[in-house]
Amino acid sequence: MRNVKWKTAAIAGPVTNSTPLVLKTMARKKNPGSKLSRREFLALVGTGTSVMAGAGFLTAKFSRRPVEQLIPYVVPPEDYIPGVAAYYNTVCNLCPAGCGITVRIREGRAKKIEGNPAHPVSQGGTCALGQSGLQVLYNPDRLQTPVTRRGERGTGDFHTVGWNSALTTVASHLDKLRLANRGAGVGLLTGDIRGHLDDLLIQFLGLMGSGRYLQYAFTNPTNLYSANAASFDTAQLPYYDIANSDFLLSFGADFLGMWVSPVSYSRAYGDFRQGRREGEDKGPRRQRGQLVQIEPRMSLTGANADIWVPAVPGTEGALALGIAHIIAGGAGRFAAALAEFDPPRVAEISGVEASTIERLARSFGDAKAPLAIGGGGAAAGTNGVPNLVAINLLNHLAGNIGREGGVVFNPKPAFGRTGMQRHGSYLDLLAFVEEIADVDDGVLIIAGTNPLYDFPGDERLVRALQRIPLVVGLSSFMDETMQYADIVLPVNSYLEGWGDDAPEPGVGMRVASISQPVVAPLYDTMDVGDVFIRLAQRMDRDMQRAMPWPDFHAYLRNAWRRMYDKRRDKLDYVDFDAFWTAVLEAGVWGETRRASQRNEFHAQVDYEPPVHAGNDVDYPWYFQPFVSQGFFDGRGANLPWQQELPDPMTSIVYGSWIELNPRTANELGVDEGDILEVSSPAGSLRAPVWITQGIRPDTVAMPIGQGHTSFGRYATGRGANPLSILSAQVDSRTGAFAWGATRVNLTPTGERIRFVKTGGWSRTLDRQILGPRSGETQEGGDHG
Ligand code: SF4
Repeated sequence: MRNVKWKTAAIAGPVTNSTPLVLKTMARKKNPGSKLSRREFLALVGTGTSVMAGAGFLTAKFSRRPVEQLIPYVVPPEDYIPGVAAYYNTVCNLCPAGCGITVRIREGRAKKIEGNPAHPVSQGGTCALGQSGLQVLYNPDRLQTPVTRRGERGTGDFHTVGWNSALTTVASHLDKLRLANRGAGVGLLTGDIRGHLDDLLIQFLGLMGSGRYLQYAFTNPTNLYSANAASFDTAQLPYYDIANSDFLLSFGADFLGMWVSPVSYSRAYGDFRQGRREGEDKGPRRQRGQLVQIEPRMSLTGANADIWVPAVPGTEGALALGIAHIIAGGAGRFAAALAEFDPPRVAEISGVEASTIERLARSFGDAKAPLAIGGGGAAAGTNGVPNLVAINLLNHLAGNIGREGGVVFNPKPAFGRTGMQRHGSYLDLLAFVEEIADVDDGVLIIAGTNPLYDFPGDERLVRALQRIPLVVGLSSFMDETMQYADIVLPVNSYLEGWGDDAPEPGVGMRVASISQPVVAPLYDTMDVGDVFIRLAQRMDRDMQRAMPWPDFHAYLRNAWRRMYDKRRDKLDYVDFDAFWTAVLEAGVWGETRRASQRNEFHAQVDYEPPVHAGNDVDYPWYFQPFVSQGFFDGRGANLPWQQELPDPMTSIVYGSWIELNPRTANELGVDEGDILEVSSPAGSLRAPVWITQGIRPDTVAMPIGQGHTSFGRYATGRGANPLSILSAQVDSRTGAFAWGATRVNLTPTGERIRFVKTGGWSRTLDRQILGPRSGETQEGGDHG
């Protein structure tokens, strides 16, 4: 198939009246290699029509490299020129942020991943996990052919079969159920799936007569969706306009780590700190923004903050109401609800001095564009939703909804659903699997989620899985959950397959991307969408007629054609093929539509004390697991680059550790590297000690991600999984897993290890070089 390559600006020739808008705009830029900011993206698509953004920009960017070409995957492999690099735009799917990426290809091999400069979410950046996507593709532990179970479930005893046999087995089972009107017993459990693949799966299940479709991801911000629905009547993740804020009050949201959309927020943080309006690189600076981070254990964001406030875990809502109490000054609609949250009482609850609370309230109230965000530990207690509602109230009092530097809600996506519409909580997941286990001939299809790693140490999920007659897994790796499948079908990595995405939280307007294969599949694998289409083709005539596409690529093109047809009059393309090719080239498409936003607040506010599993005598310390920079929720642990990536706070590589305040270490008589037994009401594990001033003395913390029992050679048997000793606590409103609501006891084992780390000795050996300044709330002394 021949198609037009998008060549460099030099090849494209001079800018003319027929040159696409973006190319003309970028040709006027003095520095065409710079990133396209969110503001520029908004400006480009805000011209009254829906336009393609980015192709011209990328063309200009790469014009400095005369032999390189930016091409869509409609160009067949035989077009590759030996020794000449080509670049493909696609979407990273290693976390739900939906960053646009550009992959460098030589001789059909993917060589390097970078952010797509034209994509308004990533703006040319990626996180470390995104960079490691090549190691998903080339991972030696990838499943290369379908396998079926030979031994007991959970033992990992499988043997290989062909696709034909595996698909026929599954299809005939489904066919029988459907023809007997018992298709309702078929359930689908997935990770974060957005875009048209989600539509295809709904259609397949609908044809089966089943509505059992649940998405589950440990990191899904279920409580934030719920708090936003209660506060603003919108169950959505808004875009937090950090770049244009001048005072950022973050309650536990590690947005420079891996919270919600870390690349986008890290970019915005750069503008915030430089005192520039977003996207401006010259002109007068305004005052640089000030960042305050409230959290019991210092995250990467906390380490970058001007003020770090270590509050008692789970009391962030009280702190927010205390600040609101001072700002509201006893007046207005919330006066009665806030009356009891005076600084002395809030200080008693949160462990933060009253003077600090007053100072934060004054700074927030005096700022021109104050912004409050909440996440991480603030959302991970049994009171996550009320905490977040209290934080939302600060934004309402500041008049922040829909305002520059505030909280910007996105319009309904151009296709698919927002991330919450199919997502379930911990309790939903358990009920979902148990219901299928109770159905005769129940079938559970699991794709892209690993709840047996994410799930706490209770056995209910495993017991339910054991009872389901047929469990089918779609995965690239034999992870903990796939061990319990009867048949595992190997799927393409995201660099080999088709898909699309409407990123959430997005950028305050409609944005969508197509994910295209940048290389041909390395092994005998398929797209998830192709698996379902092939299954339908092996079932009865009605199924075949209802799902007639030759493959998922055809389904996706059809879906985008429908979108194109609806907007044909507004789009500046000769036909659909030109539009499709242009979107593939640019890697992103945007539309001017924005959500209407009113600064209304619908929720009742009150403080709900957190409930922790374990009493404070037997279990004296709050236990705070945290999402790690390298491994996210554990999915990055099988990537060697991520294992070798020094943790940004400790510089430790490869292992796990438990973070202790020096005062705690003194009490226990332990030093760095000493191994502790960490026990909770739900179980115990062993981890070496890391001593840091960046944690409260009544709190200990561990990174999430290690401790896999089955996830390939790089992840299995390395470190410990802190989630495995959590009690099954849930948020009181949503049923979401409250992973910050367990207490632990610590017992020295007398054993020790030497950390593998790149940093040197991290403490001051009682020389008090870096003690807390007078009046600061940081607690604890050095331990040398
Ligand atoms: S933030 Fe998520 S989507 Fe973006 S590059 Fe990192 S892993 Fe990929």
